[in-house]
Amino acid sequence: MTISKPAHAPMTHFPTSHGEIRVGGIAVTELARRAGGGPFYVYDSAQIAQRIADVLAVLPAGVHLHYAVKANPMPALLKLMASRVNGFDVASAGELEMALDAGMAAANIGFAGPGKRDQEVRQAVAAGVLVNAESERDIRLLAEAGRAVGKPARLAVRVNPAFELRNAGMKMGGGPSAFGIDEEQVAALLPSLNKDGLAFEGFHVYAGSQNLRAEAIAQYLRASFALVCRLANLAPARIASINLGGGFGIPYFPGERRLDLGPIVAALRDIAPDAQQRFGDVKLILELGRYLVGEAGLYVTRILDRKVSRGRVFLITEGGLNHHLAASGNFGQVLRKNYPLAIGNRMDAPPAATPVTVVGPLCTPLDILGDNVILPEAQPGDLLVVYQSGAYGASASPQAFLGHPPAVELLV
Ligand SMILES: *Cc1c(COP(=O)(O)O)cnc(C)c1O
Repeated sequence: MTISKPAHAPMTHFPTSHGEIRVGGIAVTELARRAGGGPFYVYDSAQIAQRIADVLAVLPAGVHLHYAVKANPMPALLKLMASRVNGFDVASAGELEMALDAGMAAANIGFAGPGKRDQEVRQAVAAGVLVNAESERDIRLLAEAGRAVGKPARLAVRVNPAFELRNAGMKMGGGPSAFGIDEEQVAALLPSLNKDGLAFEGFHVYAGSQNLRAEAIAQYLRASFALVCRLANLAPARIASINLGGGFGIPYFPGERRLDLGPIVAALRDIAPDAQQRFGDVKLILELGRYLVGEAGLYVTRILDRKVSRGRVFLITEGGLNHHLAASGNFGQVLRKNYPLAIGNRMDAPPAATPVTVVGPLCTPLDILGDNVILPEAQPGDLLVVYQSGAYGASASPQAFLGHPPAVELLV
């Protein structure tokens, strides 16, 4: 008897021809030459532009689409994003500099994150970006910076809601949290937030990442908006900006399916007109990272060795968790699961009869890219492809670990 295992969502968004996967019309072996032969990430600008256009097409009037820079801060990619989304969200002064360099207007940048350095806050206030206060210390630093710089600090309050986002891959709200100020504490702070160097603009609620349940996201958007409406009664100034977060997921693992935006759009169609009626000309912001770029990127690394150990076949690649921590399972996974993989230059070959284990070159058993996977028969020199690698890849990996060269990044 065979038990059918859950499969990955189909990875047909990169076409193949002559046995090779192509990105922007360029065959993977040619891309490998362009990258200098070593491991590389490649991002498809047309797919990213299409994904953004698809989202913008269904957002009701008044909803602004922001890109969360931490998902992928490659400079060329940020430039592409800057011309297509309405704003950026950054989480450090370094990301703020990259956002400004990419051409995003300071007025449309939000800065969030726990543990902001004094100097970062001053830089953000000087640049004129909206800072999400996540603690009383943030508020104090913002007021000081506003007075020192001579213009009031634009601030929003990031609220840690009392409710939880269910089914999120990574929870950032509900219960005790380093992120945001507890809902119960916000009311008492609000009266002081529009004087002495502070210019209050609104609220930010972000409850988690990598959610594939559209109904849960819709429910969370409605609950977040209701929370903002309650707090707005005590707001010391007009509400100009409401950042409702996002957390839209993409399918990484067997059994996961692509998100259906329908219920989310339905929720926003209720929220947006209500918000305009209550608050007038208010920006409702969705901040998306991986949903905009994650599917449009591949990680590609050459197979260096094929060895058999006590009957098990190992494919050993040139790059591993040093370049792609997430695919190795060490970036927030509890039980390790495989990303979708392919042999990029053998796309027409049939699957081999026996599963293989794909490992990187590092001297640690954590360096696994594929555990017990069925791939076409592969040899040294072939190119292993990891799909769904456009977000939390190069910049979210310990590239200095073990002294191997960093991955090249291409945008085509
Ligand atoms: C990380 C983060 C995001 C982006 O998350 P994705 O899962 O990539 O969409 C958005 N907003 C905040 C506040 C974040 O911390």
